[in-house]
Formats: sequence, C-alpha cells, structure tokens
Amino acid sequence: MIRQDRHRIDAKRRSTIDHKRKQFAVPAYKALDYPHRLNFYTLPPTAEITLEQFEQWAIDRIRILAELESCQFRNKTAAETLAHLKPLLDKYLPLSSNASQSSQLQAERQKDHYSHFILRLAFSNTEELRRRFARVETALFKLRFQQDDARERQAFVESLLLDWEMVAEEEKRALAPELLACAPGLKRVEDESWFKLDWEKVPELVEGRRVLVRKAKAYVPVREQMSMVVAEFAGRLEAALELTSRAIPRLDEDDRLTPILSHLSKNFSTAPSSSFDGTDTLLSGGASPTASSIDQLSAHFPLCMKNLHLTLRRTSHLKHYSRLQYTLFLKGLGLSLEECLVFWRTGFRLITDDAFNKEYRYNVRHSYGDVGGDANRRGRGYSPFSCQKILTEHQPGPGESHGCPYRHFSVDNLTALLQATGVVDREVLRGVREDVGAKRYHIACNRVFEWVNKEQIGRAKEEGRSEAKDNETITHPNEYFRRSWLLSNRDKGEGERGGED
Ligand code: SF4
Repeated sequence: MIRQDRHRIDAKRRSTIDHKRKQFAVPAYKALDYPHRLNFYTLPPTAEITLEQFEQWAIDRIRILAELESCQFRNKTAAETLAHLKPLLDKYLPLSSNASQSSQLQAERQKDHYSHFILRLAFSNTEELRRRFARVETALFKLRFQQDDARERQAFVESLLLDWEMVAEEEKRALAPELLACAPGLKRVEDESWFKLDWEKVPELVEGRRVLVRKAKAYVPVREQMSMVVAEFAGRLEAALELTSRAIPRLDEDDRLTPILSHLSKNFSTAPSSSFDGTDTLLSGGASPTASSIDQLSAHFPLCMKNLHLTLRRTSHLKHYSRLQYTLFLKGLGLSLEECLVFWRTGFRLITDDAFNKEYRYNVRHSYGDVGGDANRRGRGYSPFSCQKILTEHQPGPGESHGCPYRHFSVDNLTALLQATGVVDREVLRGVREDVGAKRYHIACNRVFEWVNKEQIGRAKEEGRSEAKDNETITHPNEYFRRSWLLSNRDKGEGERGGED
C-alpha cells in the first residue's frame, strides 16, 4: 500500500518484476468504501499511500492510544476519559457519522483504517505489545461504539453477521426464572430478547453475573449488546495479531518500513515521541531567561532536569552527555547562547577561564549551531531531547547524571530525589513506584506534575483558563516546564518570561 514513486526499487527486487505482465495487468489494489463509521478492521488496506502518510497516520493514532492508556492508568471514569479524549480525537483521528454528511468522511475513515493496520504491524512483535495494543484498541472501539449514532450503530452491528443464535420463545419460557434472575429490573421474559453464544466470548458479563450460563453457552439479553460486540472485536483482534506476528518475518519489504515500524513500537513502549519548537517558550513580549534566573526557574523543571541542575550546583561539574541534555533543554527555554555560556562558566566554578574555554565552550556553541555541523544544522544546532530520546538512548553510566530518573534510578534513589524536591505525598510516591514497576515512566512523571501543580490546575479550572484545558500527557521536558511555568505565572503569561526574578 506504499507508493513506489519516491524510492528506487533495489536491484534484487527489480530483477523479479516482469514488466510486460505488470504493464498489462489489471490493477489489483483499490480503495475501499467505508459505509460505517465503526470498523472491525477485517479487510487489510490495499490502496496506495505515501510514506509520509504511513508514518504520520500511525503517529496520530499512537497519540490517541497513549492518551487512552494514560487515562486507564490514572483510573479516570468513562466520562472523564471521553472529556479528555474528545478534543484530541477531533484533532488527530476524527471520525464523523454518516449523518454529518462531511466531505471528509471517506478520508477520515481511510486514515482510521490504515493507521490501525500500520500499528498492527508495529505492535505484533512481542506478546506484551500485542496485549497492550489489543487492550487499548478495544477501549477505543468501545468509546466510539458508545458515541455512535444509535441507528448507524445498529446498521453496523447487523453488517457484522455475527454468529449469535437468538433464543427461541419456547426455550425462553422454559428458562424464565433463571433468565429473570440475571436481568435485574425485568419483570417478564416476553419483554426482552436473548442471544446465545459461547460463554468465553463475554467474560465481562459472566464475571459480573449479568448472564445465565448453561451448557457452556451464555444467554445474553439484547441490551447487553455492546459488551458482546466489544468482546467480539477484542477476540478477533487478538487472533489477527497472532497471525500478523507469524507473518512479519516473511514481510516482503525493502528496508523502508522496518525503521518506521521499529520507531513506532519504541514510541509505544516508552513515551510517544514529540518534538519541541523552541519558539513556543518565548512568551509574547517577554524577555528571555538569563543565567542568573535558572535557579528560580528550576522550580518548574521536570525531575530529569532538576537532577542535572542539583548535581551541577553540588559538584560544579557535569559530564559530556549530561551537559548536552541540559544545554539543549536550556536552549529550549529560550536561554541565549551568550547567557548559556555564562551559566556554564559560573556553574563550573572550580576551573579556570582558560580550562573552560579550551574544554567546554566549543560544545555549548556547537549545541546552539554556532559552530560545526553541516550547512543544514548550522545556525540552529540540535533540538532539545524528548522524553523518548532520554528514556531510550545513551543510558547513563557510573558518574553520569543524564537520563530520566524514573527509568534510570533505583526505586530508593528515585524516592529520595522526589522527597528532596518536595514530593512527599505517600499516595503519589506509591503511584510512582507502581508506574515505574510497570515501566510507565512518563506516566509517573505526569503524576508528579499533577500533584506539584494541583493547586494551580484547580485555580485554572475554576477560572476557565486555557492552561486547564492543556491536559495532553507530557512527553517532553520542555513541555513540562512550559506548562508548569504558565500555570504559576498566569498573570505574567502574556508578559515577561523572566518575571520570577
Ligand atoms: Fe524528564 Fe521525560 Fe523523564 Fe519526565 S519522563 S523526568 S520529562 S525524561
């Protein structure tokens, strides 16, 4: 389904293409119609899309899945989850109903369909990824099912031709007392219809004793249709992921997709990747921060940067990769190159000017793009590191302070660092330990952010300010700073950047 025109076919593949046959062959690939908003993703996509669409559509879907998962981890109710996800779905993965008569209907459904299948490829490698993907995709399907227009939803369910046997009137009457016992509020069996299906297909209903189970069959009232459809969706997806995992080693592809797919699965394993546009931090009309304001601004830093800052102040030194991670973060805050050089020079107070100029000045200038690099990068330098990069690349060794404390510290050291930075709430610390145990590092970081800023978030909500709506999960240290700073400086939000000095 990937368009070939942008990339050359390698020699090995070219030799297998029969040009005559190809020229006169009837095109085997075509776009699908999407009569329903909901989709069981039974047919794989077959039309062409570009590599950019392949990657971007998958990234947009990951954003939604990651947010949905983070709502689950934080025990949000269905209503809270919907309120949280609605704006994100509208932005990244809209799906209009037929009744909307939107001109984008087919395009939206195509993106939904393709992105689902791309992620199947990316997440079928390991059992853990398959399980997570199936769980969160099922949650997304359920959320959409609940929101669908009632008539369109019914038409969709009928189109599935599910193998559910209707319970005959005679059997219904024979089982009346047992059926009524499982349907609280129902007085007469004549007022409801029941389906009969294998009990394993509706574990939720069996567990909640909402159905009668007899001879390995569950008798499900029609009003429980959603559970049945959702269970069917989950069962089919799990089976399809198994098949995909077995087919992956035989995937005929010429090294264009593998790097994208492995990047996508990394995205899902750690934190979704995100970039940070440094200009975002320059609040309108504001002065940039200075070397001397960093100590105060560090109150708004995420733990990774607080750790670097504290280590620098304690030891007057940081090793190479720690300096790089911290310099780029400071650059993302809007600290100018000149101020950054002052910051490092004063920070390394145990060495002479000469030693600083010889050993460290060049690297700072290089990070800012002031020296070195190719023509492309010159003038801009490197971008601040995202959580994903910090979590997955350049693991810190002995004596190094870079990385993410949630991932790279022992639980005891992490707890001590959190307590030293003022996070003393036992519930929060317990939640962090749980998150870290389950490798949900950025969720732990967001948990701490919410606790540290809880009063400011509460006030922003009461006053209906835009920062309160800014609730997408944080996946970049500079985004952490930006939100924390804005929450505490709402009156100065449109004013000075270094206003805390
Ligand atoms: Fe820093 Fe991201 Fe780790 Fe938070 S999750 S401490 S922002 S790297």
